[in-house]
Amino acid sequence: MFKIFSFRRNIVFGVTRKSVDDDKAVNVSCRHASPSVFSLCLLMVEAAVKSAKAAFPIWSSKSPLERSQILNKLADLIEHDLEAFAQAESKDQGKTITFARTVDIPRAVYNFRFFASSILHHTTECTEMATMGCMHYTSRAPVGVAGLISPWNLPLYLLTWKIAPAIACGNTVVAKPSEMTSVTAWMMCKLLEKAGVPHGVVNIVFGTGTKAGEALTCHPDVPLISFTGSTLTAQRITEKSAPYCKRLSLELGGKNPAIIFDDADLTQCIPTTLRSSFANQGEICLCTSRIFVQRGIYSEFLKRFVAEAKKWKVGNPSDPTVDVGALISKEHLEKVRSYVKKAQAEGARVLCGEGVDSLALPTGNQKGYFMLPTVIAEVKDESCCMQEEIFGPVTCVVAFDTEEEVIERANSVKYGLAATVWSSNVGRVHRVAQRLQAGLVWTNCWLVRDLNLPFGGMKASGIGREGAKDSYEFFTEVKTITIKH
Ligand code: NDP
Repeated sequence: MFKIFSFRRNIVFGVTRKSVDDDKAVNVSCRHASPSVFSLCLLMVEAAVKSAKAAFPIWSSKSPLERSQILNKLADLIEHDLEAFAQAESKDQGKTITFARTVDIPRAVYNFRFFASSILHHTTECTEMATMGCMHYTSRAPVGVAGLISPWNLPLYLLTWKIAPAIACGNTVVAKPSEMTSVTAWMMCKLLEKAGVPHGVVNIVFGTGTKAGEALTCHPDVPLISFTGSTLTAQRITEKSAPYCKRLSLELGGKNPAIIFDDADLTQCIPTTLRSSFANQGEICLCTSRIFVQRGIYSEFLKRFVAEAKKWKVGNPSDPTVDVGALISKEHLEKVRSYVKKAQAEGARVLCGEGVDSLALPTGNQKGYFMLPTVIAEVKDESCCMQEEIFGPVTCVVAFDTEEEVIERANSVKYGLAATVWSSNVGRVHRVAQRLQAGLVWTNCWLVRDLNLPFGGMKASGIGREGAKDSYEFFTEVKTITIKH
């Protein structure tokens, strides 16, 4: 069930998972189970759900303030160990230590603090129907055991984005991190008791998606699933959970466009678009992978963008000066590379990166799961590189002429997660943003988030939204009560 080693060629990454199995077994909340139980995913999920069900009455009857204090304590404990968490996340996932230190772990801490605060401020509705002598009000209650499934790209960040609102609302949880990157989830388990999280409130199951994930999806006592991952897995989860009428929140992939008009401030736009294309090795659902540049500035943009992309330093993730670490796995690296080959076969031009500058990889890392930031130009809109999620450090740059044309082209994919628009014309950014089919549109910036506001995608990028109000609504059941007086 557990991997023995997590290798990224030339660097042996992190954990010998075998050696932490025993710890895992005693630190998950279903820790009373015998070690043999853990070799069977179904039984493990069964034990975890049972444990979560048993804890629900006590946890859900605590006041929001009591739960808030516990969430804040957990945030403090993770923050106290931030460096250890960051080191583990970088080794386990391949991301740079700088990214783990400045993005992943601080955001995991903030997720707990944010929902610890927001749970104190929700109000319910009340209306009076004077002519009938009635008043109506709504009441919200936690749903029960929440099933939470998260991916490998931002492991603790996305896991806590689900655990924090779920338990803040009074639910108990069974969470399944990706088996490829479960070390920080296991580290967090060790802090739960110290933070005062009662036994059984947070249960982490370790196992692969097709076993542990599917067992959770099909469990009759888990009425709600919050999933972040690929569209393909989401389809399977939808299908498998349908007989149980489960409530689903699905945060899925993207094929996010950046639209750059000829009046854009390129001094801001170029560094931000490099970041939006290559941050975390391009393994972020919000990464830009189609860049539409207005024809008048196309050549200049391309020249400057490629020159800057070549400066991104690829190499050992533990080196704090490195910008691009290792991809998650050999299989994923091969998949990402295959897109570049397909683009070349279709006649597109690779301007830097894969296949062009391969020798520029640091000598010690040439056989690792590393890939240089890759920029492809002259790609046809119908090419798989412009239609499918690549999820690596690869971005396509194409020219456009008019506003009308670019909106249509940007919308012509099955996804609808995020988009960026670059222009100094305020009217235009509003017009374009309104018409783009995307759950999030950033204009003249990228990845500026306020967790109060809805996060999520349209079309094949997801169903539902998460955020202060949206997560509260998802993780609670509403009831309308009418009183005749
Ligand atoms: P997957 O869909 O492969 O896996 C996501 C999670 O689901 C993992 O924990 C995985 O377990 C589990 N899983 C796999 N198969 C099943 C199944 N049949 N039933 C239940 N659970 C299952 O996605 P990746 O991990 O490859 O993550 C990358 C994807 O996530 C990309 O498409 C990316 O765009 C998307 N994503 C979306 C975000 C958003 O907010 N919209 C944010 C971040 C990523 P295991 O890995 O252990 O097998």
